[in-house]
Amino acid sequence: MFYRVDMAALAVTKEQCVQYQGLGGRGLSLRIVAEAVNPNTHPLGGENKLALATGLLAGTGAPNAGRLSVSAKSPLTGMVKESNAGGEMGTKLGRLGIRGIIVEGLPPEDTAYVIRVSANGLLIETMPELKGLTISAAVARLQGISGPAAAIGCIGPAGENKMASACIGFTGRDGSPDRQAGRGGLGAVMGSKGLKAIVVDDSGAPGVSFADEAAFRAGAQKLIRVLQARSAAGQTLAGYNGDRPDRLCSAGCMIRCPQGYPAKPDEVAAGGLKKASRRSLGTSLEIDNLDDIVLMNRLCNDYGVDTVEMGDALRVAIEAGIAQSGNSQAAIRLIHEMGKATPLGRILGAGGEAAGKVFGVKWAAAVKKTGAGDEDPAAAALINAAGLCRFAVAAVLENPDALAGIVEMCNARYGWNKTTEEYINMGN
Ligand code: SF4
Repeated sequence: MFYRVDMAALAVTKEQCVQYQGLGGRGLSLRIVAEAVNPNTHPLGGENKLALATGLLAGTGAPNAGRLSVSAKSPLTGMVKESNAGGEMGTKLGRLGIRGIIVEGLPPEDTAYVIRVSANGLLIETMPELKGLTISAAVARLQGISGPAAAIGCIGPAGENKMASACIGFTGRDGSPDRQAGRGGLGAVMGSKGLKAIVVDDSGAPGVSFADEAAFRAGAQKLIRVLQARSAAGQTLAGYNGDRPDRLCSAGCMIRCPQGYPAKPDEVAAGGLKKASRRSLGTSLEIDNLDDIVLMNRLCNDYGVDTVEMGDALRVAIEAGIAQSGNSQAAIRLIHEMGKATPLGRILGAGGEAAGKVFGVKWAAAVKKTGAGDEDPAAAALINAAGLCRFAVAAVLENPDALAGIVEMCNARYGWNKTTEEYINMGN
């Protein structure tokens, strides 16, 4: 079942969307946008759609299967763009029997709208008190109302100001909003629709049914055995993390990647310092102080801007003589300018390539108008369709049992008899 949310009329409809049967994750959210959005539509206009989609295994308890995929026509690239995030929203939507949410139209008022999803349905509320808040501040207020167990997706000032590199932050198991749908400026699309946050509470959810539960469990065991056998999964990464189950995306995570940068033994200074963020905020700016990089990462997450685009824009600022290589304080000041939406900050928030044009520099790191991140290999198509975390890709590439297990789980969940190739084509 899908929810279609018309922000212009503040109306909600339930749809079965049979044309999307068999699709999940990236393949699903991209298909919705590619088929239903006119290519000439302005990314921040009412005709653009923000599509949130769960993976095929969402809510089943399959290992590492809680990713949420988000797509729209991108204000950064002008093309259809997908970005996906961990956290618990994908799992909770799956348990509620919701495959996707499609948000369209522009709102009647300049206020902060919040979508609340529960077993009772979907409601649109106005919460003007959230307007202008950072993501962590807005999430704290929403958790004060909904409780810590709700999954929340939220934008910050960058999204509200429709900056082309704005992201959407999602909460993980510990309630911290440090999982991002980062790429492509999808936070600006959410902001154009006046949508500050989406809150999902799965209390009383019916849960997931299986066509063949025994076959599903057998498939899950295959994947679990492969993940357990890999030294990086569940052992090395968990060791770096201090094995903090509360820092995981969801209860079913077997890999336990490090998602927290500790300040003190029991305190997390910032979560999820991803490889691409270390490159863009550290190496490419010649900043080698890890504490400063972590602070920059946290500011980007809180203002709601993609760390890769922000880092690339800061590199442009260095080329233009506005900041200096290795000067973390200058970079931090510029991130605050972006968060406060000053004229200079808005230029940087438009992404590396746009900033390069404004400042007339000859060099900006961009491919098709976007900074280079950690893109998934093509072989990840099935992983994406199933909604599995990308850290499972290596296991799937190494051991055919893992791939077989995922295919068996999908077939047993829905009563299908699809082949591996069919799933891969679907994910592509
Ligand atoms: S491995 Fe990391 S990113 Fe993947 S589900 Fe687990 S905590 Fe989330």
